[in-house]
Amino acid sequence: MNRVVRPNRRTLLSGALVGTVAALTACSSTEAPASTTSAFPEAPPTTPEAALQRLLEGNQRWVKGDPQNPNRDPARRQAVAQEQKPFAAVLSCIDSRVPPELIFDVGLGDLFVTRTGGEAVSPVVTGSLEYGPLANGTPLLMVLGHQRCGAVKAAHAALRDGETLPGHLADIVTALQPAYEQVATAKSDDPIDVMVRAQVELAANDLRSNPGLAPLVTKQELAIVSAYYSLDTGAVEVLSGAPTPPAEK
Ligand SMILES: [Zn+2]
Repeated sequence: MNRVVRPNRRTLLSGALVGTVAALTACSSTEAPASTTSAFPEAPPTTPEAALQRLLEGNQRWVKGDPQNPNRDPARRQAVAQEQKPFAAVLSCIDSRVPPELIFDVGLGDLFVTRTGGEAVSPVVTGSLEYGPLANGTPLLMVLGHQRCGAVKAAHAALRDGETLPGHLADIVTALQPAYEQVATAKSDDPIDVMVRAQVELAANDLRSNPGLAPLVTKQELAIVSAYYSLDTGAVEVLSGAPTPPAEK
């Protein structure tokens, strides 16, 4: 999926920088020499398909226990200090076991990450998610739920029992109510898992109908994907919205 781009003067100049960065990376390693595998330090993907592929390849490394930990050294910090071009935006849970940069094996400047309890969405969250695609050309937006989500479990219990959680926890419960209502119609012995999957689907659907984002989706410049993370295996499963390759012309 990765395209070979013929360098012009500017990319040749920046290529010199990349070479310097690579050299610095090699020097900074205290273990083996810097990896020469293709995922590091490639240019960021620019299409929805390539962006999703990059995330899933990183996740496979995470699952196997063989991460490359790319873009996490001082050279990368310097390289993105003035400008960033993340290739994906992720809405995920605050859960300490689901940090997007780790589970997708990416680093600094790779992702816009928004995290809320149970991927609850509010106007501020939506604005944060719009920022990447609308202001930065980010080609992929992922809503990522996860196994045994405590926020979803707490919201499920509160709604089931008619309890009001203290403080602004109640706002999370309110935001998750539509997902809870889907549980009632699903025949499952794991209502929390049903609610987790419903929540990412509802959130992704809302974003797909977002007035700013929908035209980008229609033009296939942006894919909005729902996904599910297994705490047990570390694997990310795409649930819906996976981009299809551009139609042949
Ligand atoms: Zn959670």
